[in-house]
Amino acid sequence: MTAASLPRHEVDLMVLGTGLAGMAATAFALKRGLSVAVAGTPGESLFASGLLDLLAVHPTAQCRVWDDPFAAVAALAAAEPDHPYAKVSRPRIEAAFADFVEFLGGIGLDYHGHDGVNAMVLTPVGTVKRTYRVPAGMWAADHGLRHTPAALLVDFEGLKGYSAAQAAQTARAVWPGLRHVRLPFPGGLAIPYPEPMALDMQSPAVRQALAVSLAPRLRGVEMVGFPAILGISRTREVLADMRGLLGLPVFELPTMPPAVTGLRLKAAFEECLPQLGAMTFFGKLALMARADGKGFVFTVGGAEPEARISARGAVLATGRFFGRGLVPHRKGIREALFDLPVVQPASRSAWHGQSMFDPAGHGVNRAGLATDVRFRPFGANGKPAFETLYAVGSILAGHDWTSQKCGAGLALVTAHAAVEDFAASI
Ligand SMILES: Cc1cc2nc3c(=O)[nH]c(=O)nc-3n(C[C@H](O)[C@H](O)[C@H](O)COP(=O)(O)OP(=O)(O)OC[C@H]3O[C@@H](n4cnc5c(N)ncnc54)[C@H](O)[C@@H]3O)c2cc1C
Repeated sequence: MTAASLPRHEVDLMVLGTGLAGMAATAFALKRGLSVAVAGTPGESLFASGLLDLLAVHPTAQCRVWDDPFAAVAALAAAEPDHPYAKVSRPRIEAAFADFVEFLGGIGLDYHGHDGVNAMVLTPVGTVKRTYRVPAGMWAADHGLRHTPAALLVDFEGLKGYSAAQAAQTARAVWPGLRHVRLPFPGGLAIPYPEPMALDMQSPAVRQALAVSLAPRLRGVEMVGFPAILGISRTREVLADMRGLLGLPVFELPTMPPAVTGLRLKAAFEECLPQLGAMTFFGKLALMARADGKGFVFTVGGAEPEARISARGAVLATGRFFGRGLVPHRKGIREALFDLPVVQPASRSAWHGQSMFDPAGHGVNRAGLATDVRFRPFGANGKPAFETLYAVGSILAGHDWTSQKCGAGLALVTAHAAVEDFAASI
């Protein structure tokens, strides 16, 4: 297909990226009545735990863990004025989380949490993780960790990378009443991997069989924990049914990535965003971008160009190295689509510290795009490169979401700020 014969579309906003930041930007734009096109591959979200962190660790060098994420954000913003959180207010953060949780509920993914306090979840290795909003399937673990009832952790013969015995053993100091059991998985899978197990769990017969095999083990048990296999697209129904069949609260523990929790987000987004009116190019990328008058023109496709999209504004949510928004070269790190300047260590030798697990993190993990307070990335002259280009999520400079435990929050809050700014400007 020649450039001239490509199908042409016009939208208010082009969202570049279908990781958490791009999906959130799309959802927020739809809510504000904007016409939106979105392109990208699943990004990091396929690997994600499904937890929505706001901020749990600061300073990372001291590994200080916070129960109050807003106090943590205030301390972080004071200590690290270049962190993207230093550009946002508490009402912005609250609105971003509220809007996104409402959106997720509308597409079948319920989330819970405490007002202004981090929740607790049990990880597959038995440690406790603080996070702000928790998928419904993991929510009962917060109650369990606070009140430590007698609980049974279940795992399944042949399931790799998950050990209820290890989780129970490690967590015993904080949750002494944890026991564990290993059972055959009733679905008849040759090798039980989380994804096919989760699909099997959508069958009432499989749930019934699991409840029958668990029944003799439940004497004195007050809640039951499973690896995250309670369905992919029908988790509400699977969770409610398991609770009913066992007559007990049920919770999930996230499993090692790639995990069902990330697949749930991907499946729900891919099914629902087109229904809500977004023009979606899932699995496709922007192959070319250029400014055009007051907006932009993008060529989108896979191996070949497939469509030409004109947009009045654009949200760059292309991630860091994994998402391929930033590309490492011998002479430095480049931004892939607009060739915007990247804030980065002075030389390659400063990318990494001596210890791989240095809690202070590595210089390269803070590389990214600098922006103004409206999240418009700077050009070479230190001013916003374009009037209506925004950068959101992990591509931003000045944060280390992995160690600070702020990945999803950063994506949601910056996407929210950018979309509101754009909506107000047109
Ligand atoms: C293993 C793992 C566990 C995690 N666990 C948690 C957790 O417990 N809690 C939490 O809060 N967060 C967690 N996260 C982080 C969170 O889910 C987000 O992945 C992270 O914040 C980055 O999101 P992003 O959207 O900015 O980037 P990415 O997810 O990297 O997405 C980048 C997107 O940009 C697209 N793209 C790149 N180039 C182009 C182009 N030219 N045109 C169009 N699209 C393009 C990519 O295809 C991709 O869709 C986890 C992440 C991982 C990997």
